[in-house]
Amino acid sequence: MPPSQITLSEWADRDRVLSSESSAEHGQWVTDNVPYEREIMDAITDPTVPRVVVQKGAQLGITDSAILNPIGYHMVEDPCPILVVQPTVEMAEAFSTDRLQPMLRDSPALRGKVPPPGADGNKLSRKTFPGGFVVLGGANSAASLSGRPVRVVLLDDVDRYPVTAGREGNPLKLAIARTSAFWNRKVVIVSSPSTAGVSHIEREIAQTTCEHWYLPCPGCGCKQELDFDRIDLDTLLHSCVNCHEGFEKFEWLAGEGEWRAHRPVDERGNTVLARGFFISGLVNPWVEWDILRDEYAQAMAALEEGDVELIKAFKNTRLGLLYEEQGSKVKIDLYLRRELYESEVPDGVLAITAGVDVQDQSLHADIIGWGKGRENWHLEYVTIVGDPKTDEPWELLDEAVYNRVFKTSDGKRMRVRRMCVDSAGHATDYVYAYTKPRQPRCIAVRGMGGLGKPPIAATTFTKSNRAVLVSLGVDTLKEDIMNRLNVLKAGPGYCHFPRSDIFDEQLRAHEPANGYDIAYFAGLRAEQRIMKSKHGFKTYVWVKRISQRNESWDCFVYAVAALLLPHNGIKLDSMSRDVFSPVVSDRRAQTSTFGAQKASALVEEAQPTRPSATARTEQRQRARFGAINSAIY
Ligand SMILES: [Zn+2]
Repeated sequence: MPPSQITLSEWADRDRVLSSESSAEHGQWVTDNVPYEREIMDAITDPTVPRVVVQKGAQLGITDSAILNPIGYHMVEDPCPILVVQPTVEMAEAFSTDRLQPMLRDSPALRGKVPPPGADGNKLSRKTFPGGFVVLGGANSAASLSGRPVRVVLLDDVDRYPVTAGREGNPLKLAIARTSAFWNRKVVIVSSPSTAGVSHIEREIAQTTCEHWYLPCPGCGCKQELDFDRIDLDTLLHSCVNCHEGFEKFEWLAGEGEWRAHRPVDERGNTVLARGFFISGLVNPWVEWDILRDEYAQAMAALEEGDVELIKAFKNTRLGLLYEEQGSKVKIDLYLRRELYESEVPDGVLAITAGVDVQDQSLHADIIGWGKGRENWHLEYVTIVGDPKTDEPWELLDEAVYNRVFKTSDGKRMRVRRMCVDSAGHATDYVYAYTKPRQPRCIAVRGMGGLGKPPIAATTFTKSNRAVLVSLGVDTLKEDIMNRLNVLKAGPGYCHFPRSDIFDEQLRAHEPANGYDIAYFAGLRAEQRIMKSKHGFKTYVWVKRISQRNESWDCFVYAVAALLLPHNGIKLDSMSRDVFSPVVSDRRAQTSTFGAQKASALVEEAQPTRPSATARTEQRQRARFGAINSAIY
């Protein structure tokens, strides 16, 4: 069959029907309702364009225009093998059920092209039609991306793809490689962006024409891109770059827009064939600007408390912009803003945790009190000099941290509810020997690098003495701490540090208190995040400045991990103060085995002493997860 003469937008206007369950406006497709989509669609059926890339805000209808419409077009006009890729196999199946199947059902021109659901030739992950087929793969599975050659590859939501699909490398490259046998291949890549430096869509669109949507000013006619920063958030008027008049959204959107290429030729002066489109949520006909304003206000409030997730989501999904990581180092002078605490434990503190770092010849511990919204008060930074491969420093650690009793302003007593001890590197077996009898109050941890790992990444038992060992996503924890160290206003997220009331005239500062000296704060400044290249991607890594010590960072990380251990009874937004009764607990606090009995009892419950050999194996397997959970928490 010769290639069709009609364009994708013409086909959609003729044959595509939007299904009620998946579209804001259902019924016959009308390209004029979404004028910015016409050129994107027609580029997809333009035989001179090998590749189309769209970086977009969420819910702009691009999945319909750039993924579903091409499938329908090729079924009717130009049959061929097609591969559609979603971030995971499960998402591909959901796409098949929730988006593709309704289109096939509701568009009369497509009805009957594919056998009925469930029949041979119509499976979730593969549908055949006369002259071609559609397969649906997940970017997390190299197996689902490889297979027979295809002419058209449609890659949806690529910034949620992993950097590599198993050991096979970049999933985009794997999928695109399947088109190499076709001279008339077509690749379509669509996504909301993620974080600058680690984004697939950022890298792909940089190789295209980079076209932006220009709208005429309703007043002076000057064509320009809409920009969230030029919207007055009180009046919701967007001001013109030229005449500075403000106009409402509907006035701007009524104008006739056009795509303008910012990169029509490449670095060598050659015309760029691959077309790329940036499309902002500001031109979304279905999302009004007051909604964006409210979301922005919420995101900014969260940001002030050190939480970047909302503003990141706002930029990525509403504006279709990359998020630039902020706060790559501590920017403010934490030493100068230290404060005098009114009591040993300031009134805002609800629970106390500690993090212990183990060095060759010393132990370091940061004891931190936590309040609502994770506002925190550093209580004491403990340094114990001594070889951790001997008993003495551990006995001192009991005294200074584990059994330590703090007093509140109203005479109540508090102590460390959970502490995490670093077991990587130095004196590992001594750490396990220390933590095991003190579980669940005291847990051995080890750090795992890597972007995007959950803070509490995994929980296992050690081989040597079956102590609980928790693996931490330290990069995630450091990022979180960095954001909070940069919070400027006391309240949620803010970090308090103590000082003494003695003023040193020479240094023009108050003397240190509770171990928080200049070296401690230099340690907090010792680490910063820089960008590095990995698998051809830029990625962020934490580096320590040469010759700087950074135990203060590590201790802080482990103390936050202690706060995040599940089932630790710490619920900062609803709990009452974690005080304990002096009479009973004083006696217990002096017994270093307190906590040990409870933890070992829990472990023993799951693993009775000396059962038969077969029972033991079975018991061990069964006990593994249950025991880990009950032993720690
Ligand atoms: Zn104007």
